Amino acid sequence: MTTFLNNYLSGAWQPPSGNNTTLSDPVTGQVLVQAGGQAKGLEAGFEFARTAGASALQALTYGQRAALLADVVKVLQANRDSYYEISLANSGTTQADSAVDIEGAGFTVGYYAKTGAALGDARTLLDSQAVMLSKDQLFQSQHILAPVKGLALFINAFNFPAWGLWEKAAPALLSGVPVVIKPATVTAWLTHKMVSDVINAGVLPAGALSIVCGSSAGLLDALKPFDVLSFTGSADTAAQIRSHAAVVRHSVRTNIEADSLNAFILGEDAAPGTPAFELYVKDLAREMATKSGQRCTAPRRAMVPARYFNAVAEAVSIRLADVKVGNPRNAEVRMGALVSRDQFNGVQEGIAMLAREAAIIFDGKKQALIDADPAVSACAAPTLLGVQDADQASIVHDHEVFGPVSTLLGYRDADHAIALAHRGLGSLVTSVYSADDAWSAKAAVALAGSHGRVHMVSPEVAKSQTGHGNVMPASIHGGPGRAGGGEELGGLRGLGFYHRRCALQGPATALQQLGATATWNY
Ligand code: NAP
Repeated sequence: MTTFLNNYLSGAWQPPSGNNTTLSDPVTGQVLVQAGGQAKGLEAGFEFARTAGASALQALTYGQRAALLADVVKVLQANRDSYYEISLANSGTTQADSAVDIEGAGFTVGYYAKTGAALGDARTLLDSQAVMLSKDQLFQSQHILAPVKGLALFINAFNFPAWGLWEKAAPALLSGVPVVIKPATVTAWLTHKMVSDVINAGVLPAGALSIVCGSSAGLLDALKPFDVLSFTGSADTAAQIRSHAAVVRHSVRTNIEADSLNAFILGEDAAPGTPAFELYVKDLAREMATKSGQRCTAPRRAMVPARYFNAVAEAVSIRLADVKVGNPRNAEVRMGALVSRDQFNGVQEGIAMLAREAAIIFDGKKQALIDADPAVSACAAPTLLGVQDADQASIVHDHEVFGPVSTLLGYRDADHAIALAHRGLGSLVTSVYSADDAWSAKAAVALAGSHGRVHMVSPEVAKSQTGHGNVMPASIHGGPGRAGGGEELGGLRGLGFYHRRCALQGPATALQQLGATATWNY
């Protein structure tokens, strides 16, 4: 019998709702589990989270909630083998690619457990110091952060069923805000298993964590004024969410993480043969192949000095030729499948669109898949395209191909490279590879206005750098414009979304009676 991914609402597992969707193995096509249609009991479930969940969480100090997160980490660690099995079957990923999601989830919750523990007995966060409002200094203003009085609804994308949940849930739960997670249906199984493990372990209070799998119908209608909504997914769905009547009417605070045309810039100094050049080539090929390019941070636009274009094209192609694609159950395979046949078709259409203005430099399709049927599996080969004179290309700055695909663009000088990066109209991350720190720093400052993160790599940090595509919980994740305008993580900054800032004005003597506080130092 096929397993059903029941919803968990109002502190109880709900019976199947009908109109089910089937989740399948993207390599073999085998049916795995089922998720339901429109969820029942959403309003009651949301109210249970807002009342029982919020009051139980907010009865605790920040330090006690951080300890809950440490317990969550233990549960995730105890069950991690089953997560790898599910990821292999449902996402079609290799062990190394599953680790990006699964270990990334545990690492991020662990980070917030540790960071939150430092807030100790505090029940209220102070935002900076009190300021005087009267000349006699008796009347002052102190800004504080109070947890929002609603729930946090997360609507997530298919590519990070593990990390996508926990990178949002960790700061929310630490803030004392109950969580409802709606994973993307196609890969909901892993999210569901993690949530079930944590619920069954009884480490969180009732109402702190709920899950809705399958249809998103009715979810946004159940939102109320103090709820917050965090969405990760495509720009098209993001636009529907922003304009949803309940979101607009109730001024629901919304964080959007959407498409991103991330750039990967080779410095003008990094001639072929230099360590910076070698690093760039190695990392570009690796970033293209990681999770089959299904990372929101993957480099879609690789900008190189025009005079080095051919050398980069050749060196990256040699590395891509080594990427064995196919069934991740075969130990030879380095890159597994895309998440579904629909995504596979979308990637092929995207490549065709880019090829209207770019040459195909490396076409991985010429190599046979390993242990995978090209007519059934969603395995897509890496593809490198290129436009030597970047001014001749425009689609590459507009269209995100969510697969192992990148386009080389030749630039004239630093100003040209930066202007090209800005043409993405807002990105999550751009990396700069150079041995010239002054060049990198100047470029980074110039890029900052349209990026959430600029990642600088020199040969000296080759081993210590954290990787272009990896989102570190200490740094913010999110970008302006096309990337959605959101901001997540960034250490304790990430708690800001789950709190309201309130100015308390009153006698200095009253402001000294706020109870246990900590200053929101991030
Ligand atoms: P998607 O199709 O937009 O779906 C995202 C989520 O929205 C899914 O849970 C989906 O549920 C739900 N959804 C769809 N229609 C909805 C509606 N009308 N109301 C409420 N929820 C709705 O995106 P995806 O295909 O899963 O993800 C790929 C995209 O995500 C890429 O464009 C990628 O760039 C972006 N992404 C961005 C980031 C980032 O951090 N910036 C991270 C990862 C991915 P169903 O699955 O049930 O349809």
